[in-house]
Amino acid sequence: MYRVKRAGGGHSAFRQEDGRSTSQMERLSALHRAIERGELRLYFQPKVNAQSRAVVAHEALLRWVRPSGIVGPLDFIPLAESSGLILPIGRWVLREAVDVLRTGRLQEVCVNVSALELRQADYVDHLRSLLEESRVAPRQLWLELTESSLLEPRFVPVLQELKVLGVRTAMDDFGKGYSSLMSLVSLPIQMVKIDRSFIEGIGEDTPDQQRALEVVRGIVALATAYGLPTVAEGVETPEQANLLTKVGCTELQGYLFGRPEPLS
Ligand code: C2E
Ligand code: MG
Ligand code: MG
Ligand code: MG
Repeated sequence: MYRVKRAGGGHSAFRQEDGRSTSQMERLSALHRAIERGELRLYFQPKVNAQSRAVVAHEALLRWVRPSGIVGPLDFIPLAESSGLILPIGRWVLREAVDVLRTGRLQEVCVNVSALELRQADYVDHLRSLLEESRVAPRQLWLELTESSLLEPRFVPVLQELKVLGVRTAMDDFGKGYSSLMSLVSLPIQMVKIDRSFIEGIGEDTPDQQRALEVVRGIVALATAYGLPTVAEGVETPEQANLLTKVGCTELQGYLFGRPEPLS
């Protein structure tokens, strides 16, 4: 087990020994050095079929492994995005994930992609050549995109290109923020990940929890009507797993089935 250190708790990646917060410039150069020193690592968390509970794929989750401890992506992805460093980081993540597939260490991998990466005009071409060079089947790779990025109309042709290539896409964190049910059914995506905030609320017999379950039931029903499989993220208890299976979720992911871990 490992603990991800979070900002604000006094253990941030960017807090100095004396407790002083580091400047934006210092934080940025620390992240630059992390890339150069190879301190970024991919951890992998399994996803299971809800019915059989067999592992069907693994999600790649970025970690910054520092001598002082492991830093989670919420602590450095925002800086990476605002500085543009997310572009080289994202390319490294893709290359690493494809290499894990090429060497047969995993059969199917889901990679988180930020909107900035997808905005690069050569994104799909780059991905296509990476897969070709490595002789990895496009169907072994999924891209997870958050709804806010998927709602930019300019991404529709990109999603279409990915679909033609055979790389599948999932809408991550569905239901968080300004979700539109219509975006679910109008976009060329292949999977819906239901946000952990709904799953957290499921499992005990209180009115709030009943409501959370009904919301999930509704999302699953709509997705299913349009032929879209669903995955529930953040499943932590057997009760949640059983209720989610009962309402028809296709897949389940969460600490109950496995935490993100480095490949041995
Ligand atoms: P996400 O894609 O929605 O990933 C799910 C997050 O929930 C992960 O946090 C995972 O460790 C955590 N999680 C999984 N199961 C459980 C559970 O049962 N209970 C609880 N409490 N949490 C669970 P993590 O690894 O800190 O990642 C946070 C976010 O950072 C991700 O959210 C994703 O949006 C982003 N991210 C991670 N890796 C990358 C990457 O390589 N590139 C980009 N652009 N973003 C990334
Ligand atoms: Mg994800
Ligand atoms: Mg998610
Ligand atoms: Mg999430």
